[in-house]
Amino acid sequence: PKHPRRRPPWIRVKAPSGDTYENVRGLMRSKALHTVCEEAQCPNLGECWGAGTATFLMMGDTCTRSCGFCDIKTGRPSPLDWAEPNRIAQSVRAMNLQHVVITSVNRDDRPDGGAPLFAMVIRRIRQLQPGCSIEVLIPDFKGSEVALKIVMDAQPEILNHNVETVKRLFKKVQPQDNWEWAMATLSNAKKMDPLVLTKSGIMLGLGETFDEVVETMQALADINVDILTLGQYLQPSNKHLPIERYYTLEEFEELRRIGLEMGFKWVESGPLVRSSYHADQQVRALSKL
Ligand code: SF4
Ligand code: SF4
Repeated sequence: PKHPRRRPPWIRVKAPSGDTYENVRGLMRSKALHTVCEEAQCPNLGECWGAGTATFLMMGDTCTRSCGFCDIKTGRPSPLDWAEPNRIAQSVRAMNLQHVVITSVNRDDRPDGGAPLFAMVIRRIRQLQPGCSIEVLIPDFKGSEVALKIVMDAQPEILNHNVETVKRLFKKVQPQDNWEWAMATLSNAKKMDPLVLTKSGIMLGLGETFDEVVETMQALADINVDILTLGQYLQPSNKHLPIERYYTLEEFEELRRIGLEMGFKWVESGPLVRSSYHADQQVRALSKL
């Protein structure tokens, strides 16, 4: 029998293993921390954890939104844990990270969306691991400038907010989000701190056309987003949105070329590229510019 939905050979995921991986896993358990790497079943987990990098997920493992591609559970989240930023910073130090990515679930139960915890974790990592560059992958805070300013005042190196998909598919893919909030988050961040590197990403294969991808890239370039990530959408389970198509390696390369022509300073484009993939390399290369 034919398997039309079978993964093409370039989508190859290695099972995570190795000492460093086991150590990081143990550390996460002992400090009651969550990582996106695990929650989102990221295909790069073996590579990233093996290299000693990880993406921390703050504010619990339950999100107030329910995006159709995301494997994080939806529901009523528990109260914020104000000691969490300190535990994350201690882990960053214990792992001797040179670059760290901090993200969170959406906390629409709070008017500030939990922005103060982002500021706290940035400041605490600065104290405990001074040389480490910090990328925050933040929610849209419903476009709130007040919430965003709380994060920007702590001066992260990279401010990341993923649009995830093209404008036409926003409501289907992430029903509680909207395009304007995403664009406002990215453009306001740059206005508040011209030195910050802004970053966004798109998942490919959710039913968008190639031209719509290029239009979305242009919209991001127009608001001076510096770093772009493009990766293949992979369905976490059959309850999630289906994969409409697989992009070829040539298409990923073509989009990378188009992105660089548009003026992005860095484009990470490939089937297994995820938001935080190779983030350490981006910040090292771009801080020299
Ligand atoms: Fe974790 Fe990001 Fe690496 Fe995936 S790409 S394993 S989420 S650090
Ligand atoms: Fe997942 Fe983020 Fe959507 Fe929440 S807002 S469901 S964490 S992608």
